[in-house]
Amino acid sequence: MPLTIVTYHYVRDLANSRYTGIKGRDLAEFKGQLDHIGNHYEVVSTEDVVGAFKGETTLPDNACWLTFDDGYLDHFINVLPQLYERKMHGAFFPPVNAVVHGELLDVNKAHFIRAAQPDTAAIIGEIKTYIDANQGQENIQTFDTYWQEHAQVGRYDPADVMFIKKVLQHTLPEAKRNALVDELFERFVSMDQKAFAGELYMSQDQLRMMIQCGMYIGGHGAKHYWLDRLGAAEQEAEIAASLDFLRGLGAPTTDWVMCYPYGANDAALRGLLGRRGCALGLTIDTGVVDISQDDPLLLRRRDTNELPLA
Ligand SMILES: [Zn+2]
Repeated sequence: MPLTIVTYHYVRDLANSRYTGIKGRDLAEFKGQLDHIGNHYEVVSTEDVVGAFKGETTLPDNACWLTFDDGYLDHFINVLPQLYERKMHGAFFPPVNAVVHGELLDVNKAHFIRAAQPDTAAIIGEIKTYIDANQGQENIQTFDTYWQEHAQVGRYDPADVMFIKKVLQHTLPEAKRNALVDELFERFVSMDQKAFAGELYMSQDQLRMMIQCGMYIGGHGAKHYWLDRLGAAEQEAEIAASLDFLRGLGAPTTDWVMCYPYGANDAALRGLLGRRGCALGLTIDTGVVDISQDDPLLLRRRDTNELPLA
């Protein structure tokens, strides 16, 4: 039984938004893609997918499951009305701290730094200044070392963009990386991260309304960490916080779904999730799932960019 899982992040009217350069799915394109999906697939619910993996239900041959990462307000304002109108189900994965504490995720800071400053050379110049000033501290290497390692053409991005992404996401030691990202965010985007986060993510009340409208809310960790880089206690804390959050929303905490931030997971985490009643785990590996063969905690997805827009 094949299952196509589609991944979305930002969904917004890009031309009329403040940051037209944000890498997201334009709302008009999204509507066109939902038309395509409606014509070629049968959109199934999270419950259907969980049931199929447990052997309790079967899915149609052209099953499609729509997933939305990171808890953006876009999902409440733009996605929910489109899905509701078409009687389609969606599964949404907000990080706890973004919603509950208004913490702006590093990955989002990086997106908006690049959207606000399209001149990659200007960002790279700031990164070089920072690395030069901090070189030698906490094993920070030379700028050239990082450049040679990370300025490589990626799946969707040219080498300079890949370099910025890698350095801002995980190359530098955590405290140094956070300081650099904050510096760049303040310089290029906004001095007020809290207000920015308040406009970027859904609230708990909005998530409860999503549930009332038939949508599914699942786990995406608390701090949006690469979970495979954490020790056992930290992994436990991330999963416990996710479950507390879901419980507070009235979302399922048995046979629930975990969406790994950055797709990152390891055997220890999957073991823990199994013990905590997690039924499915979503990665960012690309491809179509085979329900009869695939590990339910290692599900591949197709990015919205891989599907037609009409
Ligand atoms: Zn995420």
